[in-house]
Amino acid sequence: MQDASSWTDGLQLAFGADQPRRMLIGGRWLESYSGQSIAVVDPSTASPIASIQRGTAADVDRAVAAARAAFEGGEWPAMNGTARERLMHKLADLIETNSAEFALLEALDGGKPIAAAHQADVLGSVARLRYAAAWAPRLNGQNIEPAVPLDMHCYTRREACGVAGLIVPWNFPLAMAVSKLGDALAAGCTVVLKPSELTSLATLRLGELIGEAGFPDGVVNIVTGYGSEAGQALADHAGVDKISFTGSTRVGKQLVRSAAGNLKRLTLELGGKSPAIVFADADLDLSVRGVLRNFTYNSGQICAAGSRIFVHRAVYEPFLVALADAASAVRVGPATEDFTEMGPLVSEAQRDRVRDYIAGAVESGATVVAGGAMTETEGYFHRPTILADTRPDMAVRREEIFGPVATISPFEGDEFAAVIREANDTDYGLSSYIYTRDLSAAHRTARLIRAGTVRINGAALDHTMPFGGYKQSGWGRENGCEGVLSFTELKTVMIALA
Ligand code: NAD
Repeated sequence: MQDASSWTDGLQLAFGADQPRRMLIGGRWLESYSGQSIAVVDPSTASPIASIQRGTAADVDRAVAAARAAFEGGEWPAMNGTARERLMHKLADLIETNSAEFALLEALDGGKPIAAAHQADVLGSVARLRYAAAWAPRLNGQNIEPAVPLDMHCYTRREACGVAGLIVPWNFPLAMAVSKLGDALAAGCTVVLKPSELTSLATLRLGELIGEAGFPDGVVNIVTGYGSEAGQALADHAGVDKISFTGSTRVGKQLVRSAAGNLKRLTLELGGKSPAIVFADADLDLSVRGVLRNFTYNSGQICAAGSRIFVHRAVYEPFLVALADAASAVRVGPATEDFTEMGPLVSEAQRDRVRDYIAGAVESGATVVAGGAMTETEGYFHRPTILADTRPDMAVRREEIFGPVATISPFEGDEFAAVIREANDTDYGLSSYIYTRDLSAAHRTARLIRAGTVRINGAALDHTMPFGGYKQSGWGRENGCEGVLSFTELKTVMIALA
């Protein structure tokens, strides 16, 4: 593994020349037909650091053709699960060997504090890929006994669903790409991967390692570009059998319409507005630490952010004081600095969006208990911000902000039903957080919350467990065996025995 002192060398190694980074199509590194590029900006400094190709529909066409050819002929369909598993472990080894370079790319491209990026995003991706690899030789069907009075041998087969389009957002560029890629490859699909136009660098580096690992040409193709161009072309493409998308609910709904053309399969991991409920008996330190992390990790750019905090009236005041102190103590700074606990937001637009939400809430009567804008730096920074005195109808209580902002409200002892109602009073249903020492209260609340994930007393997400949303937070699940199965079709075979 590279050590921290070589991170700068890693940068030179990753970028090479000033040329826009090329796209991986059919095993070759190609320029876009558009001849245009998109600047890559370091959100800690607001300076351009590289550029990527502006891929468009024509590039998507050739990437899908390469993925289709690799799926239907050549080495890939001839490989069994064990061979795919071996290749995937090779790729995991290569990511691990280059982990410091990936951490640097994630820090410069997306503003992730480098140590956290190394641990969670990069080494987490290595573990995620190994987990997916282990499924490759284990995707078995079943023998089924028929009911009809005919002597038959009946069984099911799990088969790859075909060419998969993987569309990834900017908040976890490497981790999300690897998560989707791992499950798709384990199932035997070939893919066209479309990273976010804001954060493509780690994915392009991953493409280089995919070649080095020895994946056959065309199994993994990477097209960079804007969502409305390259992303939309992938979603519309008749040669794509499945789209696995992580991103906003707005775009997710658009993809449902795009998928209708050839009824391609869809997995949608969308937005959230998740509640965090703190009961009177909760451990104060643990719940303050947990609640703070829930809405500030990754600068609050997390789909599962616990951005609506409800605290029992009996502990509201001490909790609020402790949370405000903890929020004010978070060290906000450039992603590559050792002292930084929270980096910048990904872009100027995202930073301004956060500011606008807060300004709108204050205009409507909310109180800023901690935080606020940071105007003294070039980068796109914002302090962790807590808003009190909000109402359920305010935008900050209803809409996904995707920044380090949370609202906080008290509830009374006899208001259990009311707090559950409020927790569920959202179009989203991705995640939720409960803090209590009372096991019955914890499980009763878990049962009543309408969300795909319930995390009690600081429990961490893990890739072995299914993740996804109720309501407008999405369709389907990623992670766990559900993630791999979502890239398969189920075939039933029946033979009448003579
Ligand atoms: P986004 O929807 O704007 O973009 C996501 C990806 O889709 C990008 O690669 C983008 O280029 C592409 N895209 C945009 N328009 C497209 C179109 N018309 N057709 C096809 N592709 C298109 O989201 P974002 O701003 O990059 O990411 C933030 C959003 O992602 C938030 O809403 C967040 O909640 C969500 N998210 C969800 C999860 C989850 O697991 N549920 C995880 C992370 C992020």
